[in-house]
Amino acid sequence: MEIRQKRPALNSRVILDLKKRSYLGMIYYLVALVGVIFPDGYYFRDPSFSRLFLGIVILICLFRLVHYLVSDHVPPRFKRLDFIIFAGSIVLNSLIWGLGFARLLGQEGEQNTQLLMLICTIGICSGGVVAYAPLLWLSISFNAFILLPGTLFMAVKGVYLPLAGLCMVFCSYLVFLAARINGEYWKALEIESLLEQKTRELEKISHMDGLTGLYNRRYFETAFEIEWRQAVRNQTRIAVLLCDIDKFKQVNDRFGHMAGDEYLKLTARILKKVFKRRTDVLVRYGGEEFVVLISDVSTETVLDLAENLRKEMEKTILEYESEQIQTTVSLGVVVGIPKPSDKKESMISKADERMYRAKNRGRNRVVAEEG
Ligand code: GH3
Ligand code: MG
Ligand code: MG
Repeated sequence: MEIRQKRPALNSRVILDLKKRSYLGMIYYLVALVGVIFPDGYYFRDPSFSRLFLGIVILICLFRLVHYLVSDHVPPRFKRLDFIIFAGSIVLNSLIWGLGFARLLGQEGEQNTQLLMLICTIGICSGGVVAYAPLLWLSISFNAFILLPGTLFMAVKGVYLPLAGLCMVFCSYLVFLAARINGEYWKALEIESLLEQKTRELEKISHMDGLTGLYNRRYFETAFEIEWRQAVRNQTRIAVLLCDIDKFKQVNDRFGHMAGDEYLKLTARILKKVFKRRTDVLVRYGGEEFVVLISDVSTETVLDLAENLRKEMEKTILEYESEQIQTTVSLGVVVGIPKPSDKKESMISKADERMYRAKNRGRNRVVAEEG
């Protein structure tokens, strides 16, 4: 159910808040009614009305209580109906109370019970304003249904006219108060949601490399820990590819640092092109070093992918300010099923060792074997 078109994302949160706020009211109705009809003996003077009033209030409160308990388990497609039942039962509850209040005001010689009823009614009204303020129409209808039947009765019958006037003043005051609380509630909610959004954004930024848009080394440490444990537990294959751009210093020296940055971005794009699986973790590990973490993969696939990357880099030329920049990459690849006794750090140092071996063998190559 859309409460405010402009802020639909907050609707489910608001409904949850309203539900939490409503359940104390159900109990208050029952306690208040018992407190009105029994202490002064009203129940024995008008048993049929007392039983009817008490019976209806108990039924509605029980219904609301059951609804409160089951509504968390309602499937999403019935959420709208669920909300209509929730709001409807609140309005019905307030209307029944309001009618009971009006009926009691019309009974002569019942000043004591009327006084008790008035106090409880004012209490319910005030509580309802605060509880249902997130939804202004619910807050206002709740108070109107409770107070207006009695007020209209007094005005029409010409009894307790000053009290009728005071009830109108009180009713207007509650509407004003509801509007204020409503504004404050939504403001607080918007600030909270903005804060959550900013926190998520910050968390995401803290995992990313600003230049290439790949994950950074900090994220890699976390991801690697998780993937490693999973591979040990499930005895699945995991692969680490360490990729270093060849003679990158020369690129910087010859074409400038900005050109070097563009080449790093190009490398990231090629990595994304070659490693397409959603679960592949592409990382800028350091200056011109990249790591790819692949889980649950065959050795052949990893070697093919590493070779594809090498070839793609070899054939790609970066056009930068009428210059053509081209270089290659060297890769160290480690792939295997880790044993519980293995250390994950040794996988990185092995990849590093193999990458340096690729450099020593003349660069632009993949080294994947022990040696
Ligand atoms: P090798 O083939 O042995 O790897 O040679 P290399 O020149 O790539 O290696 P070396 O470690 O000597 O140089 C790496 C260079 O990468 C040096 C540094 O200026 C450059 N570099 C590191 N980070 C960045 C960056 O963010 N932007 C740019 N443009 N260059 C960077
Ligand atoms: Mg390097
Ligand atoms: Mg290098």
